[in-house]
This record gives sequence, structure tokens and C-alpha cells, in this order.
Amino acid sequence: MIKAEPGDKRSFPLVTINTDLVITGGGLSGICCAITAARQGLKVALVQDRSVLGGNASSEVRLWVLGATSHMGNNNRWAREGGLVDEILVENTYRNPEGNPIIFDSILLDKVKQEPNIELLLNTVVYDLNKKDDRITAVKAYCSQNQTEYYLKAPLFCDASGDGVVGFLSGAAFRMGAESKQEFNEPFAPTEEYGELLGHSLYFYSKDTGRPVKFIPPAFALQDIKTIPRFRSFNAKEYGCKLWWIEYGGRMDTVHDTEKIKWELWKVVYGVWDYIKNSGNFPESETLTLEWVGMIPGKRESRRFEGDYILKQQDIVEQRQHEDSIAFGGWSIDLHPADGIYSSAPGCNQWHSKGIYPIPYRCIYSKNVKNLFLAGRIISSSHVAFASSRVMATSAYVAQAVAIAAALCKEHQCLPADIINSNKTALLQQELIHTGQFIPDLQLQDTGNKAAQATITASSELKLLELPADGQFLTLNPAAAQMLPFNSGKIPDISFSAYCETDTVLQIELRICSRTGSYTPDTPLAAFQYPLQPGVNQVSVRPDIVLDAEQYIFLVLHKNPAIKVARSSQRITGILSVFNTVNPAVSNYGKQEPPEDIGIDPFEFWCPQRRPAGHNLALTLSEPVNGFTATCIKNGIARPTTQPNAWVADCKDPQPFVSLQWEQPVTIKKMILSFDTDFDHPMESVLMTHPETVMPFCVRDYIIYNDRDEIIYEKTGNYQTRNVLLFEEGITTTRLKIAVQHPSESTPAALFEVLCFE
Ligand SMILES: Cc1cc2nc3c(=O)[nH]c(=O)nc-3n(C[C@H](O)[C@H](O)[C@H](O)COP(=O)(O)OP(=O)(O)OC[C@H]3O[C@@H](n4cnc5c(N)ncnc54)[C@H](O)[C@@H]3O)c2cc1C
Repeated sequence: MIKAEPGDKRSFPLVTINTDLVITGGGLSGICCAITAARQGLKVALVQDRSVLGGNASSEVRLWVLGATSHMGNNNRWAREGGLVDEILVENTYRNPEGNPIIFDSILLDKVKQEPNIELLLNTVVYDLNKKDDRITAVKAYCSQNQTEYYLKAPLFCDASGDGVVGFLSGAAFRMGAESKQEFNEPFAPTEEYGELLGHSLYFYSKDTGRPVKFIPPAFALQDIKTIPRFRSFNAKEYGCKLWWIEYGGRMDTVHDTEKIKWELWKVVYGVWDYIKNSGNFPESETLTLEWVGMIPGKRESRRFEGDYILKQQDIVEQRQHEDSIAFGGWSIDLHPADGIYSSAPGCNQWHSKGIYPIPYRCIYSKNVKNLFLAGRIISSSHVAFASSRVMATSAYVAQAVAIAAALCKEHQCLPADIINSNKTALLQQELIHTGQFIPDLQLQDTGNKAAQATITASSELKLLELPADGQFLTLNPAAAQMLPFNSGKIPDISFSAYCETDTVLQIELRICSRTGSYTPDTPLAAFQYPLQPGVNQVSVRPDIVLDAEQYIFLVLHKNPAIKVARSSQRITGILSVFNTVNPAVSNYGKQEPPEDIGIDPFEFWCPQRRPAGHNLALTLSEPVNGFTATCIKNGIARPTTQPNAWVADCKDPQPFVSLQWEQPVTIKKMILSFDTDFDHPMESVLMTHPETVMPFCVRDYIIYNDRDEIIYEKTGNYQTRNVLLFEEGITTTRLKIAVQHPSESTPAALFEVLCFE
């Protein structure tokens, strides 16, 4: 028994932790940074003030994680972020296709708890720090659940707290609010009337109980729904992320006024529910109950800290290259009116760029606090650029670069900025690619990768001459295009069947993208017109065009509701059909037509359809597409770019395999295999139900043999992109044979990459 006598003031116990990297904030950025760093061998303390991980992606807020794929509503093909954020989203799609936020919480907790190098402190808030000169020496934190104080010491710190608590307390230079147009020459910089900050939002979930449910609103609920100019947009079936426009606080201090903003949002949420339940306008709401209301608001914007570079509008729109690129973004520039729900302006003003854009390393450390990394929405960007880089998959992707940079800092005993100053940028980029990060226009060099020196052969290689016409016919409404990767040289003839019931004309174009490696078909190469007669017509496109470099071409079949074309049920890695269609969720109205003076490009959207739709167009080619060679597995790129970058077996190969042969025996302790989990799939983490748990292109079963034909590894039921295989004793061999099973009859086996390390 403890019996405390009356005494003096007491103190809580103090726990001191010495570690390599202290990360404040366990949102998706903090998590991806922590796990990536831990896997590099760093000891990490991850401090999260809430009881679950995930920040805005957690069950406390319930936003779906998105990034460059943008709900599949823009022209960023194969743009889901790689590395850890990919691993988490693929895992969530496998375990939780219904998008249950509680299950997503459990996956995040699971992933972090599997890392022995991470000390996770939940319910622990960082509130103070110590500094010596221009460096942080320790942060102080407190956990109210165990009444314990923590003193966290490290040579390196990462602020992933959303509001930038560590940056703020340590005196790091920051900005809050919108820059003028003049400061960075950003034509899209908002006027004062539109506002300086994006506001907070609170979500609610409703549930059908199957019997009548009454609702008596709390006294603080909004009384007059008409104070919300767009109140007619509410409907009884929408909840969660769909109501992102319940936003408020853009004219307040989004840090210190957060509690006031939250009360206003509660007022709105309960008022909206009162309107839905009690106005009589929604009889279908009779059996609905309010299942959940957010307790903490989702925060969009507050402080942005200054690094050695500030990302700006032009970097995004022009997809500018940077010597020190470490990640990419691809969400639209997405600004909101500061009055949020009380504004009569549309809830957002989104403008896309023609493709993904690189993000430089100089944006992810403080320019004046020398051992402070920045991750999440606080990275160094202008208000306009932040409007794109802030989304969670992008933030988390950038945070993975913090982790690798921190590992390099530890190895070389240097500070974040020294990576640039002492020419270690290439090292950082290579290490990142090694962990699954795709950085536009960069590829893995062969340093240490023994697969790069191997002679690669395969049982077969797909020579794509035909996408057989075995699917339903597709009406050309909307317009459709087939993307095909061709090498430099003459484009082959392309033939397909078109059906119509009356005389009509099929308009065809061949297009490419003006920027290598992007997928906006903005450059016509040739146009053709084919008069069609009732019945099935054989159409042959004979382009007399020579490509000077490998790239995707778009066979564009213009909209004509009188015409149907044959489809194929075959799905092949790197082969995709796209449609000139509308996706209002991301301001895609088929064509982007910005006002002239805002520095945004006009262009058309050509996007894939979600499965089970999204079939390829059936066609035959006079010469095969040859890009699926076995040597692709060592070309240092693990997703389609200007080519599929994958070995794809012939569909009829009964036992496909790829072999790596060395002249001298090699010893391998680690292998990484990269499979196709469809980088076009956004894998929204919550709310949205996905029709599949395993991507159709993904090899599920494979066996690896050594040069004595002994099995050294066998996997069944794979669903992950990257399989990292560790052989503690090392495998010494002159040959590795990787035998794979086709994922299905209609999808041949594909492998993006094989890496072998000693
Ligand atoms: C309504 C709304 C809709 C949005 N829509 C989308 C969308 O559809 N998809 C998308 O990807 N993004 C969306 N965003 C943007 C996105 O959610 C944020 O930009 C993103 O969460 C930023 O990530 P972060 O890791 O920086 O911050 P957060 O996700 O906020 O994570 C920061 C974490 O740090 C913790 N923390 C804060 N202070 C401390 C402290 N002192 N000590 C310890 N821990 C601390 C917080 O509790 C939190 O868990 C939206 C945002 C809002 C508000």
C-alpha cells in the first residue's frame, strides 16, 4: 500500500531517453519517417500526443490518404507513392478494403510496433525543448495517462507535428498565411478577400439502424441552416470525407484558436444533422443515427517552416527539376475560400499540373535550426505550393526522405544541410530509391546491387502483338484512348474492330505528351478519319511516324456515341486504357480551362477507369511492343515511366521464370523483388470500398532456386509490392532462378525489379 503523508510540492517521474532521432507527431508523415529510419538501423523515439497513430488519417479525424494519384482523376499515371507509404496502403487494401478507420488505426499501430528500433510514446505531448546555439539538444514531453515526464535527447530531431511545435519552440523561421503574388511571382497567390489560410474541418459518420431514430440537437447546434450558402448540397447519404467542405477558421489563428474553431465546427455538424433529421426534407433519414462525430478537427494549414528552398507554384506547374529531388507530389494546387462553409464561393479552387513534380531536399530541414528536419504539411513551401504538397501520401513520401537523410547524417556525423553542402545528395537519392522511393528522372545505379552485374535471361518475354477481343463492346462515349509503349523507330500499324448501326465517321488521333515521362496527351502526331458502315468494321491505323525516343503513345478514339469498339479482358503491366471523362471529386471536368492570369496550363484529362471496369481496347499491331524484356529487372526503375520497366512473361508460358547468372559465385544476404501492385490505384484508406484486396497484376506465388536447383525461398499468397528477403547465412551461388506463377489467365506474370546485396 502507498500512503502519502502531507508534504511539499511533488514532481512526476522523469524518464530520459537517448536516441538517434526524435520525431514529434505520429501522423502518416511521422510514422513513415519513423519506420523508414528504424529500418535503416536508427534508434527512433516517436512521440504522439493522441492515443492512436495517423493524425488526420486516424479514426479520430478520418481523412482518406491521398497523393499524386488524386482519386485517379488527373493525368498522373502510375503515381502512387512508393516505399513505406505504399506498403501501408497496400496492406490496408488487403486487410481493410471496406476502409474501416478503426482497422486502419490497427494497421498503423501494428506496423510501428513491429519495429524494435522505435520507442513509441502515445498520449505524450511535446511541450518544451532545450537548445544549445543553433541546435536542439532535447525535447520535453508529458504523458497524462501515466503521469510521466520524458526528456528526449538526440543529435537529430524531426518535426512532424502538423502545427510545427518543435520548429516553433526552437525558433525556426516560419511563415503563416499567404505570400503576395509578387514575392515568388506566383500568379495563383490568393487575394485578401479569398483568404490567407485554409480552415479546419470536422467530420461525422451516420448509420442506418433499420428502425426510426429521433434526434434532439444540443442547444449549441446551428439554428438556421440558411447561414450555410450551399445548404442545399447536403444529402442524407453523405458523410465522412465527402463533407470535406464543412470547413471553418481560415480567418483565425489556426493554431491558438483551434478550440474556438472546433466549437464552431461542432455547432455546424450538429446543426447539419438536425437539418437532415428534422427539416422534413430527407425522409430517407428516418432510420439514420449519428454514429460518430470528430472530437478533434482535421487541420489543413498553419505554420510553414523555411528551409534552404521554398517550393513555389512554378515548381509544380512546370514540373521543375531539382538537383536534390527526393520525392514527388501530384495533388492539384487546392486552395479554399477562407470563410469555408460560410462562403458562397465553391469549397475549393483546384488546378492540376500536367504530371507529377519533384520536391527538393532543401525543403525538408530548417534553414536556421541546424539539426531540425521538417515533415508533413509544415515543409518549406509557399502557401500556393503547400496547397498541393500538404496531402498525406505526399507528406509521408517526403518524410521517408527525412529518415534516409537522418541515417546518412548519423553515418557521416553531419547535419541535414551538410548532405547538400558535402555532395551527398546523390547518395541520399540512391539510398531512397533502394528503399522503394521513385524519384522522377532518376534510377538506381548498380552500386552494391549484384543483380546489375548478372546476365539476365527468361523462359519467355511478352511480345505484345494483340490484345484479344474477348470482352464487352465499349461505346465511344466518352472518348477513349489506349496507351501503348513504343521504342524509338516507326510506330507499327494498329488494327481493331469498330461496330456501328448507321453510317458514321470514326475520328482517331495519335498523341504523345510534350514532357518525357508525363502522361498528358497534349501533342498530336497524326489524325485520321474512318468512315464506318453499319456492322463490324475493321479499322487499320497506318501511321507513317518515326519516334525519336521511347515513350507512351495514346491511340485516341474520339467521342462518338454511335460507335462501339471491342475490348479485351487481358490486363498487362504497363498497358492501360484512359478516358476523357469527368471526376468532380478532384475538379476534373474533362478539360482544365483556367483563367489566363493564374499561371496554370489548360489541358485535357485522360484518366483510367476503376476496376472492375477499365479494360484495354482490343487491337492488333503489325510489330510487337517489345518493352517487356527480362533485363528490365535490372534497369533501376521499378514502375512504368517511358516504358513499362518490367519483365513480363508470355501469357502462354506454362512455367515462367527469370534467371540471373554470374560468372563467379556471389554471396547474397538480401534480395528485393518488386511486383506490380498497380501504382495507378489510389488505395484511399478509409470510407471508400475497394472491389479487390490483391491487385490483378501482382504475382502471388513464386519460388527461388540456386545453381543446384535447390529451393532457397518460396512464397505463396504475396500481395505486397516489395518483398524483402533476408538470408542470414548468405546464399552462395552462380545462378538464381525466380519461377513465378501468372496471377491469372488474363494477366501474365510481371516483375519490375530484382536487387541482390551481400
Ligand atoms: C478536412 C480535410 C480534408 C483533407 N483532405 C485530404 C485528403 O483527402 N487526403 C489527404 O491525403 N490529405 C488531406 N488533407 C490534408 C492532410 O490531412 C494534412 O495536410 C496532413 O494530415 C498533414 O500531415 P501531417 O503528418 O503534417 O499532420 P497530421 O496528420 O495532423 O499529424 C500530426 C500529428 O502530430 C501530433 N501532434 C501535434 N502536436 C503534437 C505535440 N506537441 N506532441 C506530440 N504530437 C503532436 C498530432 O496529434 C497528429 O497526430 C485534408 C485536410 C483536412 C483538414
